[in-house]
Amino acid sequence: MILLVKTGGEASLPEWRSLFAELLPDLDVRWWDDPGVKPEEVAYAFLWAPDPGRLATFHNLRLIISSGAGIDHLTADPHLPAHVPVAKMGAPEAAARMREFALATVFFHHRQFHAYVANQRRKVWEEVETTEAANRTVGVMGLGSLGLPSAEALRDAGFRVKGWGRTRRDIPGIQTFGGEAGFDAFLQGTEILVCLLAATPETAGIVNARTLAKLPRGASVINGARGSHVVIEDLIAALDSGHIEAATLDVFETEPLPQDSPVWTHPKILVTPHIASFPNRAARARFVADAIRTFEASGTVLNRYDPARGY
Ligand code: NDP
Repeated sequence: MILLVKTGGEASLPEWRSLFAELLPDLDVRWWDDPGVKPEEVAYAFLWAPDPGRLATFHNLRLIISSGAGIDHLTADPHLPAHVPVAKMGAPEAAARMREFALATVFFHHRQFHAYVANQRRKVWEEVETTEAANRTVGVMGLGSLGLPSAEALRDAGFRVKGWGRTRRDIPGIQTFGGEAGFDAFLQGTEILVCLLAATPETAGIVNARTLAKLPRGASVINGARGSHVVIEDLIAALDSGHIEAATLDVFETEPLPQDSPVWTHPKILVTPHIASFPNRAARARFVADAIRTFEASGTVLNRYDPARGY
């Protein structure tokens, strides 16, 4: 049985092979477009952004494992075989890394470090008055495998935390809201907005002029989810008007961020290159091995993508 791999570039294949040799010694690990692969022998695929149509040619494919937590790179394939289940990357390290990103960026905005970055460029020595975490309200949109641990870490760091998802659920120490009905109440008073939503047609462009206008003046925005969530022109307009204080963007509609994007040089935007949560190869290999073993033992798909829900 073959496990096809397409993540990290073909140069990474020897490392994947040595990791899987320990974890799944019975599988033959091959690169995605290895011409020596017999399509009927492919049982598993672990990948990022497959060439459209190719997965559908493997008629004995049992399980697709996304090398990232998002699945937009898979659903972009119009021929994605609907009968093959998809496991989204769910390595515990992914949650730990997103927790770090949420803490780092929320503290950056909470302590107004963007102002010090700007001041340093102008050699200005000036204190910016800020408040304690206990007086700061952070709103986390999306309380899934990455959003929930991030919201809990922010709560544990002393912030007042609000959380919003498709459906409302109780989380100790976090004020939660659900669906469209709860959206405005969630935004009201949110001083640092953290987007960790799934990317679906319903959530596309959700951080737009209307949403930003509902945040209090001086709020900050952090997007660690997908570029499709933020309407960049609306964010820039809100930053330029002073309604929004600053933003950190890790993800973009086009990546790498094009050279001519105004985002690169905007003084109130911190750009990071899609690094919020990226577990290392060993951690991802452990998750793949768990997913395949669990699937073989019981048919259960870990961290399963639900096409009806869209995430
Ligand atoms: P999950 O699928 O585990 O959770 C998605 C969350 O979005 C859930 O809380 C869900 O609500 C909520 N949601 C979905 N649709 C709606 C809606 N219409 N209205 C309100 N809430 C909605 O996702 P993950 O936590 O695994 O990933 C979160 C995001 O992070 C994804 O966009 C992913 O692509 C991105 N990501 C970014 C990385 C980076 O390095 N920047 C790395 C990995 C992932 P409910 O709880 O009710 O189901």
